[in-house]
Amino acid sequence: MSKKAEILKLLKNGRTEYISGEDICQKLNVSRTAVWKHIKILREEGYGIDAVPHRGYRLLNVPDRLYPDEIVDGLDTSFVGKEVFFYESLISTNREARDLALGGACEGTLVVAEEQAGGRGRMNRGWYSPRGSGIHCSLILRPDIEPRQAPPVTMLTAVAVASAVEKVSGIAPGIKWPNDLLLDGKKICGILTEMNAEIERINFLVVGMGLNINTDHFPEEIKDAATSLYLAGGSRVSRLDVLRQYLKEFEHYYRQWMEYGFEPVLDEWKKRCVTLNRPVRISASREVWEGWAVDVDSTGALVLRTADGELRSFVAGEVSLRTV
Ligand code: ATP
Repeated sequence: MSKKAEILKLLKNGRTEYISGEDICQKLNVSRTAVWKHIKILREEGYGIDAVPHRGYRLLNVPDRLYPDEIVDGLDTSFVGKEVFFYESLISTNREARDLALGGACEGTLVVAEEQAGGRGRMNRGWYSPRGSGIHCSLILRPDIEPRQAPPVTMLTAVAVASAVEKVSGIAPGIKWPNDLLLDGKKICGILTEMNAEIERINFLVVGMGLNINTDHFPEEIKDAATSLYLAGGSRVSRLDVLRQYLKEFEHYYRQWMEYGFEPVLDEWKKRCVTLNRPVRISASREVWEGWAVDVDSTGALVLRTADGELRSFVAGEVSLRTV
């Protein structure tokens, strides 16, 4: 742990008390000047720190920034989010995570950025990722499975995000097959899973998610189709609390998947799903199908009953779904 992080820890431990500069020096074996420098940096990072002569320092507030020290502080996961790469700005967290994974980053590594300049959805569509208002992050996973077994990870992520959002804010988003979360019929979260694999084994998966939390406006072209927790619920929500909860939920459902298969996660997914038992339209590159969304099977494929009664399965890949 860096000296700066240790000073922050001391301030957090004695949250309501002042802690003298002298005490900090002794406990951490640093000079008064070093303490002062670190306090200055912490303030620049957004921590509110009161300094009173002859009394010392006291922590007033923690900024709603997704700093690694804040993410991992007391996080009771065993591997998800234990290694964090934080960036003020990235082209895309998925791209960075892929590069880190190619360099050997371990399972559970989290990449998080305050903003993305080129955030992506599926089929290379853009993902609006303005600074400081949402969560834009990616996890690196190295499951010992075959590539064809990977689709559930997107659905598992949807369950983890929905559950985290509900626990922290009390608002329960619905899941739209295959990779979105909705509130009031508008998109609040998108998930993008990318894979690096051989024919029979996965080298790694990168699961990216963009979640609109305190976003108060959207660009013209998506404003009717997008929403945030703030716009839907009327109050601001701590991004840090949601992210930390997401990491816990993710680990829980990922372990469940690895140990017991996809069925238990799929049950949770179905409880939150807003796509099933209604008429939908599915578009692939050249064809369009309409029918009744009957089920999602144990591989994550959507089962559609068409007008002539035929059952047809769709894997997530390159299809878009609309309710009709
Ligand atoms: P479809 O909506 O056809 O199912 P999709 O769900 O696969 O497509 P994604 O690739 O997940 O779409 O997301 C990209 C799309 O989401 C963009 O084309 C845009 O319409 C919309 N979008 C972009 N940024 C945001 C955002 N921050 N919040 C909500 N929606 C967004």
